[in-house]
Amino acid sequence: MSNCTIQITDALHDYMLSTTLREASVLKRLREETASMKNHNMQIGPEQGQFMALLVELTGAVKTLEVGTFTGYSALAVAMALPADGKITACDVSAEWADVGRKYWREAGVEYKIDLNIAPASETLENLIIEGAASTYDFAFIDADKTGYDTYYEQALTLIRPGGLIAIDNVLWDGNVIDPDANDEDTEAIRALNKKMGRDERVSVSMIPIGDGLTLARKR
Ligand code: CA
Repeated sequence: MSNCTIQITDALHDYMLSTTLREASVLKRLREETASMKNHNMQIGPEQGQFMALLVELTGAVKTLEVGTFTGYSALAVAMALPADGKITACDVSAEWADVGRKYWREAGVEYKIDLNIAPASETLENLIIEGAASTYDFAFIDADKTGYDTYYEQALTLIRPGGLIAIDNVLWDGNVIDPDANDEDTEAIRALNKKMGRDERVSVSMIPIGDGLTLARKR
């Protein structure tokens, strides 16, 4: 037995999915439609969607943020886990991508929970803060342009209530975070935020090796 996280081989990954993945048909069909598109690797895996749905249930979240909606898989997974009066303030710069997801949101009966804002996320979040929404959100998922991560994290930390949860995607960046030859601005931005969050006394934190790495931060 190792005290390290187990290496997830393809066979073990298949086993995980075959035993415990509960992916609704509407989620599966959205995932499959997205898989045929370019940029499809920006979509989270189904087990991560299920994990985030569980986090929403655990935190009793009602009001949530999403920075980076892409084709709407994570928004759908979260919206389906939210109570009937739940809301997602979703941010993306592409209406075209989100339109792929919208028909599935509608089919699942959760479209009304998702307020999609097509604008730079930092502007949408800043407006929420100006409008007095600080400390009113329960859960936030950040999965957008990596050079914007630090800004989104700070804004989300303002908007989340004490005890609320922020989840940040791609924190292992396909292993590039430990590649000394990877010095592009996306990798540097992720490294810098990982280092900062590791020491950030404003949150309790845990880096979860699911998907491409997901850091969870609970606001103190
Ligand atoms: Ca991602």
